[in-house]
Amino acid sequence: MKDKICYFCGIQGADTREEIPPRCFFPKGHTESIIKIPAHMKCNQAWQGSIEYARNLFCGINTSNCLARDLFSTKVIRSLRRNPPLRLQMLKDLRENIELYSPGGIYLRSTPGICINTNLLDQFISHVIRGLYFHHTGQPLPKGINVTWQVQQDHPGPERLWFTRLPITIVHPAIFRYRHIILGDNPGWSAWVLGFYELNTCTVLAVTGKDRQNA
Ligand SMILES: [Zn+2]
Repeated sequence: MKDKICYFCGIQGADTREEIPPRCFFPKGHTESIIKIPAHMKCNQAWQGSIEYARNLFCGINTSNCLARDLFSTKVIRSLRRNPPLRLQMLKDLRENIELYSPGGIYLRSTPGICINTNLLDQFISHVIRGLYFHHTGQPLPKGINVTWQVQQDHPGPERLWFTRLPITIVHPAIFRYRHIILGDNPGWSAWVLGFYELNTCTVLAVTGKDRQNA
């Protein structure tokens, strides 16, 4: 293990394994398909604060998914009970009114919603994408390459359709699946569609590249 490089920082001496998606995204007895990659304990610890936040968020949004509903009534409720800062953060994210506009800019309606904590989700998505990149290439994301992402709350619109044609990998049919492409002649560039619990509700679209323009 010691000669293995860490998926996150690219330095040798990995002393633990990272799990993608993290184990807490699964109910008991469903964890056999988790992707495992080498990591340093310190790199593993670096994103722990974001994992429960992301799990609670995705579980809470995917109300039609039975496993997500079960997890919400067990692990998520427990996590909210024992973690007051996280509870406060999730309460702060709730918004009484979010204004909805059509793609053409026409006002549609106001609705209760969630304002996602981008720092925590950024930490979470960056680790997941780096982990999946390592899983497919055996290499960490090259230095200077950034992860840019957005959350698509509903079905992808027509401009996103090319994403929906990327090959799909099913880690667990009810918990995590993703689509992706990594360009062989430009290995720092990749595109990802992450579906936690469902692929079309609160889908994460992510690209890696040198900067936003190259993405
Ligand atoms: Zn590391």
